[in-house]
Amino acid sequence: MVQTALDLIRRLVGFDTVSVHSNLALIHYARDYLRDLGIESRLTFDAEGKKANLLAAIGPNVPGGIVLSGHTDVVPVAGQPWESDPFTVVERDGRLYGRGTADMKSFLAIALALAPEFRAAKLRVPIYLALSYDEEVGCLGVGKLLHDLAAALPRPAAAIIGEPTLMKLINRHKGFQSFTTTVTGRDGHSSGTHRGVNAIAYAAEIVAFLTRLAAEIAAKGPFDDGFDPPYTTINVGAVRGGTAVNIIARQCSFDWEFRPIPGLDLASVRSRLDAFIAESILPRMHAVAPETNVVTIQDSGSPPLVPEADSPAEALVRLLTGANIAGAVSFGTEASHFQESGIPAVICGPGSIEQGHQPNEFIALDQVDACIAFMRKLKDWATATP
Ligand SMILES: [Zn+2]
Repeated sequence: MVQTALDLIRRLVGFDTVSVHSNLALIHYARDYLRDLGIESRLTFDAEGKKANLLAAIGPNVPGGIVLSGHTDVVPVAGQPWESDPFTVVERDGRLYGRGTADMKSFLAIALALAPEFRAAKLRVPIYLALSYDEEVGCLGVGKLLHDLAAALPRPAAAIIGEPTLMKLINRHKGFQSFTTTVTGRDGHSSGTHRGVNAIAYAAEIVAFLTRLAAEIAAKGPFDDGFDPPYTTINVGAVRGGTAVNIIARQCSFDWEFRPIPGLDLASVRSRLDAFIAESILPRMHAVAPETNVVTIQDSGSPPLVPEADSPAEALVRLLTGANIAGAVSFGTEASHFQESGIPAVICGPGSIEQGHQPNEFIALDQVDACIAFMRKLKDWATATP
C-alpha cells in the first residue's frame, strides 16, 4: 500500500498543475485510474473547458457518505530557489520533495491509492473523492463541483478537506475577501488645485480609514485565540495612481483585503467603508466636480470556516484521529465552501503548511503512513454497522 501511495504521489506531482495551466492531464489520469477499478467519475469544467473537477462515488447510492476533498492545482515555482526539479519527486532523508507534496497532492494520491480497498469493502455509506481546480487562485473551481454533487448524488454527511495539518483536526479558519477601490477625481494643472479633485489625496484618506478600522477591530474583536493574530486583519496591498508631479491626479485605485475570523459580520467591513465614503469623501469631491466618484468592487471572497457544535464532520475526525481538541488555521480552504453548501466540513491532511508554497516543498514519509492509517480507519468506520 505504501508503495502504491508513493507511486501515485510521484505521478500526481509530475503533472505541472500550477494554477495558470490546465489540470486536465491529471484529471484524466485519475479518471482512467478509477475507471480501471470500476469507479466512474463525474467531471465539471471551467468556462473554457481547460480545467476540470472530478467527483467519484464509491459504495452504495445512499445519503450519509463522507467526502475526501482536495485541490489539484499548485502555486508557481518561478523565482524560487529549488534544489531539484519541482515536478519530479525526489526522496531524501525520509522526505519526498516536490511541488504539491504537502499542498496537497499527497492527500489525493493516498485517497486514490486506497480506492481499491474502499471498492472492495462493504461500505454502508459511500466515500466520495472530490478533486477540484483553481483553489490557489481563490477557490474558483469547487463551486461547480458542489453544484454537481448536490444535483447528482445523495447528500453526504461530512467532508474532510485534506489540506496539510500534520493530520491534526482543524475546525475553523479565517476567510478572505478582496476588493479594488477606484477613486475618480478631476485632473488639471497642478497650479490650480482648487479647480481639480485629487484622486490620490482622497484615496489616501480612504486608506487611512481602513487602517483606523483595522486598529479598531484589533482592539475590540471579535477574538479567537486559535489564530495568529487572534482577530480579523485588513491589508492594503497595492496602490496605483496619478501621471506626473504637475498634474492633479484624475485616478487612483488600490487593492485591499480582509481576513475575517469566524464570528465577524462579513458585511460590516464593507458597510463601514461605504458609509465613510458616502459621508466624509463624496460630498467634498462633488462640491468641486459632480462627475467624480468612488467605486469599490469585490475581486474574490471566501467565507471563514465556522466551528459548528455537534458537527458530524468534527465528531468523525475526532473518532478517527483520537483528537480531543480542534485547532484553527489562518489559511483559507475549500472547507468553508462545503460548509456554505450545507455539508459539514473539517480539515485534516498529511504534511505541514509550513512547507506549502515554499521552495523545496516536502512531505515526511511518516505523514504518508499516518494518512494511510487514517483512511483505513475511515473505511472501517464506513463499513461497520452503526
Ligand atoms: Zn492547499
